[in-house]
Amino acid sequence: MTILVLNAGSSSLKYQLFKFENGSHSVLAKGTVERIGIKNSLVTHEVTGGARLEISGDVAGHNDALKKVFGALTDKEYGVISKISDISAFGHRILHGAEDFDASVILTGENIEKCKKNTELGPLHMPANLACVNACRELCKDTPNAGVFDTAFHSTMGKTAYMYALPYEYYADYKIRKYGFHGTSHRYVSAEAIKYLDGAGARSSRLITCHLGNGSSLAAVKDGKVIDTSMGFTPLEGLAMGTRSGDIDPAVIEFIIRKTGKNISEILEILNKKSGVLGISGVSSDFRDISDAAGGGNERAELALAMFAYRVKKYIGAYTAALNGADGIVLTGGIGENSVKMRTRILTGLDGLGIIFDEEKNRTAKRGTVFEINADASRTKILVIPTNEELVIARETFELVK
Ligand code: ADP
Repeated sequence: MTILVLNAGSSSLKYQLFKFENGSHSVLAKGTVERIGIKNSLVTHEVTGGARLEISGDVAGHNDALKKVFGALTDKEYGVISKISDISAFGHRILHGAEDFDASVILTGENIEKCKKNTELGPLHMPANLACVNACRELCKDTPNAGVFDTAFHSTMGKTAYMYALPYEYYADYKIRKYGFHGTSHRYVSAEAIKYLDGAGARSSRLITCHLGNGSSLAAVKDGKVIDTSMGFTPLEGLAMGTRSGDIDPAVIEFIIRKTGKNISEILEILNKKSGVLGISGVSSDFRDISDAAGGGNERAELALAMFAYRVKKYIGAYTAALNGADGIVLTGGIGENSVKMRTRILTGLDGLGIIFDEEKNRTAKRGTVFEINADASRTKILVIPTNEELVIARETFELVK
């Protein structure tokens, strides 16, 4: 069975083509379309054990990005299949399952309608996710589409953690509560961390997983199950992100409306798309651009990086308390896996909690593998683990369609 996994993020589209055969899987090709909607987009297509194709230029939106992916997969020189209908199933990352979906499903017309209703809960990602689903349905009418929800792994949270301190009817009538996101990533890296720590004879029951990318979230994972997470009803809550504000005092919204005359949709657009490190730095939502600017003496860029790190640090503290101590902290996502400097900012000065970071190990951490960056004396292991949301999605899709 050949499964194409499509993971449409707010500024990126990641894809992997999996082959499931005789009880095992292999990746035929994978790639990324980066900086979608930002200038200088880059498509990187890699054939497993073979050629690598890079196409630069501007990619306006996710529809465009998907056509580039299909083109690369069927390319005469770099392709791995002769036609798109060779794909047995598409596995889609879908941002928000709300209380409609606590497990993966086949995206029938009825399920797509339910997803559409949830678009308002994820205005940055849901349109991209559903555009991918629709394009697949149009281009390959007979190929099933599976939806794997970012919220599902967090469904184990208890009411104490997921309720907001609002009038209870808002939960009872409208299901307003914390849902959490990046579930497939938190699920994958926590499982990998447990495997690694168990193998090393270390404790693994209290983990803090930090997914730091364009969107960022933390999760507290006890005995393999989420007990709390930083994103909420929508992905807007929690950390400061590429373009999202994360936690703010809700009274600020009314104050901005009074001061600027903007309406609530405009404010939400600002909170989702013009805030976070982009809003603070005024430079970009991309951490590489902001790091370059900070290196060149841009004070607002420096402030954005410092604020981002400080908030991650505060959540680590909060979840250390929620878990009554942490056996492991896991860093993943584009920033967590790659940014040596951001890891230093976040993890320096946590020794009072028994979390002791090793600068040298951090600097020399090998990419693409589980890597320990804590000092030997650290009570808490600190692990850099490359996430693999695509593998989780492929397995779920395989199970649904086999
Ligand atoms: P998304 O949430 O869109 O899937 P990713 O997990 O791909 O995001 O992370 C994207 C972020 O990771 C960008 O802000 C990018 O700048 C950052 N990033 C990627 N590589 C590096 C690096 N080597 N150094 C610093 N930041 C990086």
